[in-house]
Amino acid sequence: MTSPFSFKPLQLPSSLEPLRLEARAFLAEAAKDWSGWKVGHSWTGFDRDFSREVGKRGWIGMTWPKAYGGHERSGLERYVVVEEMLAVGAPLGAHWFGDRQSGPLLLRLGTEAQRQRFLPLIARGEASFCIGLSEPDSGSDLASLRSRATRVEGGWRLNGRKVWTTNAHLCDFMIGLFRSGGQADTEKHKGLSQFLIDMSASGIEVRPIHDLTGEAHFNEVTFDNVFVPDDMLVGREGDGWAQASGELAFERSQPDRYMSAFPLLPLTIDALREAGTDDRLASRRLGEAVAELAVLREMSLSIVGQLQDGHSPAKEAALVKDLGNLHEQRMPDLVRELLDCPSSIVAADRLSELQAFLVQNVPSFSLRGGTREILRGIIAKGLGLK
Ligand SMILES: Cc1cc2nc3c(=O)[nH]c(=O)nc-3n(C[C@H](O)[C@H](O)[C@H](O)COP(=O)(O)OP(=O)(O)OC[C@H]3O[C@@H](n4cnc5c(N)ncnc54)[C@H](O)[C@@H]3O)c2cc1C
Repeated sequence: MTSPFSFKPLQLPSSLEPLRLEARAFLAEAAKDWSGWKVGHSWTGFDRDFSREVGKRGWIGMTWPKAYGGHERSGLERYVVVEEMLAVGAPLGAHWFGDRQSGPLLLRLGTEAQRQRFLPLIARGEASFCIGLSEPDSGSDLASLRSRATRVEGGWRLNGRKVWTTNAHLCDFMIGLFRSGGQADTEKHKGLSQFLIDMSASGIEVRPIHDLTGEAHFNEVTFDNVFVPDDMLVGREGDGWAQASGELAFERSQPDRYMSAFPLLPLTIDALREAGTDDRLASRRLGEAVAELAVLREMSLSIVGQLQDGHSPAKEAALVKDLGNLHEQRMPDLVRELLDCPSSIVAADRLSELQAFLVQNVPSFSLRGGTREILRGIIAKGLGLK
């Protein structure tokens, strides 16, 4: 039987090792005082100074043309740097969404003026972007969204409400999806448009939403007659649905979809070593986790290759995200199983803080970026079952 999924193997060439070592050396210095709590936030943690440092080293917009502040490096070089950053739980949030989603979107579909204005800022770690998709009654069924963009002289007026917008309170710009025509109930996928929105524009209100930890990294954002000039429309009016869903293969296949809990692994191994445990079961369970990671990495790398070749492997990306979320959600359970009494283990402080953070956050891993049920619907379609 031929598989409906395509995962052509892709080997990372050894010529990338110097770059890996360079990133590792930079991170060893930067990460030495990071608490377990900070490490837990990883790519959602917001630290502008860190992003500027990363930008100076040429590690944002790595694959973009030099003409727009990029570095014309390969997707595999970017992969290596991203892997190293996630391995230590680096706070990437101030540039992550611009680097991963908004920048590539503008590169592909933005006007020349938009590219020249925004891409160099993102690449220097100076402009941060948030993603305005979800609404109170439109999450999984995103195309039913109701926030409106109404044509006015010189641009558009935005009205409506977005929810769960990660770091909206800290970001400079949002790329938001609005209904510029058509009806939510009758022609859901038509008449949606994407806009670049300056978060300091008048009429925008950002209210925090608290999560289980008590922190408020995501928000409700209301738009009350917010004016957006014509030159801030992204791509073509009415093409927003295809544009936004085209971004998802980038969003769903990357190492952040299976490495959110990765920093637990080396800390757990260190703790077991220091405790002098010679437990065959622990070795086996850790071995299983490492094997899972290795497979996920191969699958994710294969998608990078396909994206580089101009394909859009949406169903493969859904598979990586679903399996990746299962792996990263299991990590705190594994630690609980192996380290029954963290207080008796030397150097457990960072570990137990990270563990506490992750136990409270893992439920969200399979919600953000598309819920498990929706991804499984995409996978089932790929298998011809739906
Ligand atoms: C930590 C975090 C950060 C986020 N950041 C952002 C952000 O920056 N920007 C943004 O726009 N959004 C963001 N989101 C929102 C996220 O993408 C949505 O939560 C998600 O798309 C689900 O939407 P919902 O919460 O409205 O749930 P609903 O769509 O109401 O779904 C509720 C449940 O029903 C299931 N369900 C719904 N429809 C179906 C169906 N047809 N078949 C089977 N099951 C179904 C879902 O899978 C889910 O389990 C974030 C979410 C989280 C948790």
